[in-house]
Amino acid sequence: PVRTRFAPSPTGFLHLGGARTALYSWAYARHFGGTFVLRIEDTDVERSTPEAVQAILDGMKWLGLDHDEGPFYQMQRMDRYREVVAQMLEAGTAYHCYSSPEEVQAMRDRATAAGEKPRYDGTWRPEEGKVLPPVPAGRKPVVRFKNPLDGEVTWNDVVKGTITIANKELDDLVIARPDGTPTYNFCVAVDDWDMQITHVLRGDDHVNNTPRQINILRAIGAKLPEYGHLPMILGPDGQKLSKRHGAVSVMEYPAQGFLPEAMLNYLARLGWSHGDDEIFSMEQFAEWFNLESLTPSAAQFNNEKLAWLNNHWIKQADNTRLAELVKPRMLAAGAVFDGAPALPPVLALLKDRTNTTNELADAAMLFYRAPQPDAALLSQHVTDAVKPALAAFAERIATVEWSKEAIAAMIKEVLAAHGLKMPQLAMPLRLFVCGQLQTPAIDAVLQLFGRDTVAARIAKFL
Ligand code: GLU
Repeated sequence: PVRTRFAPSPTGFLHLGGARTALYSWAYARHFGGTFVLRIEDTDVERSTPEAVQAILDGMKWLGLDHDEGPFYQMQRMDRYREVVAQMLEAGTAYHCYSSPEEVQAMRDRATAAGEKPRYDGTWRPEEGKVLPPVPAGRKPVVRFKNPLDGEVTWNDVVKGTITIANKELDDLVIARPDGTPTYNFCVAVDDWDMQITHVLRGDDHVNNTPRQINILRAIGAKLPEYGHLPMILGPDGQKLSKRHGAVSVMEYPAQGFLPEAMLNYLARLGWSHGDDEIFSMEQFAEWFNLESLTPSAAQFNNEKLAWLNNHWIKQADNTRLAELVKPRMLAAGAVFDGAPALPPVLALLKDRTNTTNELADAAMLFYRAPQPDAALLSQHVTDAVKPALAAFAERIATVEWSKEAIAAMIKEVLAAHGLKMPQLAMPLRLFVCGQLQTPAIDAVLQLFGRDTVAARIAKFL
């Protein structure tokens, strides 16, 4: 059975790269009816915060990336790591090293001076027939992993292809500090083993960790997962994505009026492809997702494309749901909903042209505030030539059937009777009823406002 995991370090918000990693791991598990595990890698106590944990959980919840197991917290698994360290010491796959930090530094400097990679020189590494130095009094040892000296580590990365690292490039990694706390790569290996992870998808900043983790997994007798390292996400200018490109935290997107469907759809295509298809629902993505179509080259973030997808998903979205999303912003802008048209049909009329729900909220305001037409615009559009037609229109409001079609037909009749063109009647009506000239089609707008409001607002000006 397929078991994937998302293993964020809670040191900041959930950023776009992390969200994409989570999405792909989620989709792979869902594709096979497998298990998606959430693991919080919080062993860096200096940088990990409960707020960051919450930000990750919030981001995943907003995206709808539900996990089947976890969240597991590495800080709650310390006993388990100590247990494995003890087992490895027992089995001889790890050893105590009493070299002081200064001594290790001196070894590194010597290697560098000799033109080699800085490394631990193996002083405390036990070998057949080797006599170890006397243990320095009162010094607490670190535990080092006994990395193989020869041969190489090779894995077939599902994104990058075959990667090979010579074992002599890898140091005898410290797996436990003098106080017994385990180190990063060791915890990841133990977790992937215990959680029986079959596929590890993560950012390619972890490529260098993989051979170390593979060696540890081999030493403890674990079955190796498949690895796939996703290339990083670049900003629109080709530089590493960062704050100056705009939002990097996933949770800034709902605040800016993006729907999770759009973000998911965008991230789905940012590093994976399915022919020329651009629009995916979550379900569709989970059905189509495969490792073969992951893109090995870095993906470039494109705000216009995200906006285009957001427009698509806003058009698809249920209007009652959209109403809930736009309401807080409209209330903050002073919207009065009492006695005004219902929000969902208003949004239905407006949403074709909006890229964000914030734009949608702003556009909808015209239905929920008292019109205050500009005096200059009024005198420009409400001319003596037009006034009789407006009066005729006002008179017919009471009796016309209140449908968009009937209102449109009635406007046409008034225009014909007075020899006017559409804008000559529509512009004053817009100013009276909406207080502005920019509105959707006048028949649709009037229909939504309702007969009484339209009548009252026109009467006020005539
Ligand atoms: N905790 C790591 C990070 O947030 C991910 C480790 C992994 O996926 O193996 O970058």
